[in-house]
Amino acid sequence: MRQIAIIGSGPSGFYAAEAALKAFGEDVAVDILDRLPTPYGLIRAGVAPDHQSIKAVSRRYEAVAKDPRVRFIGNVEVGRDIALAELLGFYDDVVLAVGAPEDRRLGIPGEDLPGVFGSGAFVGWYNGHPDFAGLAPPLDRPGVAVIGNGNVAIDCARVLAKTTGELAGSDIAAHALAALERSAVRDVHILGRRGPYQASFTLKEVGELGELARATPVVRPEDLPDPAGDATLETGQRRVVEVLRRFAAAGPDPAKPVRIHFAFFHRPSRILGSERVEGIEVALTRVDEAGNAIDTGETRIIPCGLVIAAIGYRSLPLEGAAFDARGGRFANDDGRIAERLWCVGWAKRGPSGTIGTNRPDGFAVIERIRAEGAPPAGRPGRAGLLAVLAERRVRPSSFADWEAIDRAEVAAARPGAPREKIVDIEALRALCGASV
Ligand code: NAP
Repeated sequence: MRQIAIIGSGPSGFYAAEAALKAFGEDVAVDILDRLPTPYGLIRAGVAPDHQSIKAVSRRYEAVAKDPRVRFIGNVEVGRDIALAELLGFYDDVVLAVGAPEDRRLGIPGEDLPGVFGSGAFVGWYNGHPDFAGLAPPLDRPGVAVIGNGNVAIDCARVLAKTTGELAGSDIAAHALAALERSAVRDVHILGRRGPYQASFTLKEVGELGELARATPVVRPEDLPDPAGDATLETGQRRVVEVLRRFAAAGPDPAKPVRIHFAFFHRPSRILGSERVEGIEVALTRVDEAGNAIDTGETRIIPCGLVIAAIGYRSLPLEGAAFDARGGRFANDDGRIAERLWCVGWAKRGPSGTIGTNRPDGFAVIERIRAEGAPPAGRPGRAGLLAVLAERRVRPSSFADWEAIDRAEVAAARPGAPREKIVDIEALRALCGASV
């Protein structure tokens, strides 16, 4: 019996689990550990609350979790409740599927002022992640700067710009909905240090900004390169640029009171303010032949009361696993960190790709594990882990506990919404009664 521990119950963890079931058939036990009693990682806490169709993939993960060969073990933090080295003593293989939970830093003056947040924190806030429920981002000024030209920047801008009516059918946390109801935000600036050709938005995400009830996209025609160059772009990027051209040609809708400004060629250089954020200073740029941003020498100040840096994420190091500090992920050779220690997903490749990218990634790593051959018999597996946790008075939660939480959240949903998330960790734990 191959005994595998997967650390992290987000998409990369569940695809690795699914792959392990396929690869080892009946001869496997897969334990999926999570520090929270709620599974699904970024599906629950990262994917935007108004993108419910993407969240539906959790049904597939649920089927994996309910397979008799699989056990979800929540409420257990590896590195605190149990060491990685101990897990390697219990299990034949340990797979880190811990994602990249830490926001990358901007490295500019003013970054630590109140009102500056990484997108991980801001997204965690509106998605009801227990770590960020108390964030209280200031929404009392008209201006907001969202730094970055990726889909996370668009998610943040869209959530800030939507009406509470547009968000009513989402599973946005109640505290965020209430704060947005009172929001004074009118100008959301999405700052890209390079231009439209270099933006990493995808088509659907950009297109949605043209369909909002009270918000209108603003693209300056002069920021768009000569259309002749569009032919050199790959299809996805070309379509994104076509949407931006459409926005520029149409101009902002004057009937809509909220504007989402695409501020291309804007490299943030300083965040301004003394007690809190008052504005952001940017260096204006041009892009050279090699695609690098070059400062033009001009600067601009954008007044804003909130700055969200949506510039990527890093994994958190874990004692006992080699870490690539520069890349912000585990040092690995195609998923292998060390003997019997593996990584998948963002922990392996850094924060890129869609949810679906994790599937082939997880299958490939499990295939490598299979190729290692059968492990020696005798490791205690789950029983060893549970005995040590009991000694330490750590109370793991089960998938049945999660189902109780799920039922409570669904029962408490606002009319038209799928669920009302419970955001307090103690309240979540209080619903955990069953044992693993
Ligand atoms: P991303 O796509 O890598 O975008 C990061 C952005 O931050 C880039 O525009 C980058 O600019 C910019 N940046 C990095 N450092 C910066 C700095 N110091 N100053 C200014 N700008 C800086 O990452 P993401 O938006 O965090 O998304 C992560 C992954 O999740 C992506 O693969 C994304 O597509 C995916 N995702 C998908 C969806 C969806 O499908 N709906 C939603 C959310 C996220 P440069 O290009 O100049 O480096």
